[in-house]
Amino acid sequence: MLSVTDSLLIVTDLDGSLLDHHSYSWQPAQRWLDKLNQYQQPVIICSSKTASEIVPLQQQLGLSDLPFISENGALTQIELPGQAQPLQRLGGADYHHICQTLDDLRQRYGYKFTGFADVTASDVALWTGLTPGAAALARQRQASESLIWRDTASRFTHFSQHLSLAGLTIVEGGRFWSVMGKESGKGAALRWLLTHYPDKQAPPPVTIGLGDGPNDVDMLQSVDYAIVIRGHSKSPVQLRHNPAPQVYYTQAQGPTGWSEGLDVFLAG
Ligand SMILES: [Mg+2]
Repeated sequence: MLSVTDSLLIVTDLDGSLLDHHSYSWQPAQRWLDKLNQYQQPVIICSSKTASEIVPLQQQLGLSDLPFISENGALTQIELPGQAQPLQRLGGADYHHICQTLDDLRQRYGYKFTGFADVTASDVALWTGLTPGAAALARQRQASESLIWRDTASRFTHFSQHLSLAGLTIVEGGRFWSVMGKESGKGAALRWLLTHYPDKQAPPPVTIGLGDGPNDVDMLQSVDYAIVIRGHSKSPVQLRHNPAPQVYYTQAQGPTGWSEGLDVFLAG
């Protein structure tokens, strides 16, 4: 079992993991957040949310000044001490290019889907239960597009092949599909982050990952200890156990499952 005094790095998804899928509360995880904060263990957010959404959440969670991975790994940002500009990695494609490609495919092949760029903040608020203000932050995208697929499963296969030919990829989150550059993804973003943080000279920390969706699989496969939180998406998350991470599948959902998983791997 790990100890809170070990050199650790915790990487966590937000929606459906640290945050409740419906209420966005993290209350059941507060006990562990306080403990990790007390021992100065970094908790790195790794989410489909935008940077504009994550920065205020980091403050509320007491995780300011830590790196974060946003837009499903299409954007990674590390604050460097003494430097005005954070270190950024933008994975592959920018938002304008992605939306342009999606529009072209829709016009050529008649695919039916609705993306955040097609609607207003009020629509996003209705879909997500976010306040209109928070929904506006969710639309401030830099490197990925969220969409609802409204066409058939077989057309989806063709759609993803067309995206691939255009250098893009699509992954499933708790509520939406996410289209981004092929080099993006939570796992690729985490592997890049680990080469730049916390200290290249120090021995690497033991990594613990927490996530609930198919978009978390690559991230969970890239850590030493993976906590798969029981989720809401149609496809249940199943990890390869070889090569390991050590994996625990929680009984509880959301932040209660988040705490349940840490109770299993980490002595508090
Ligand atoms: Mg999730």
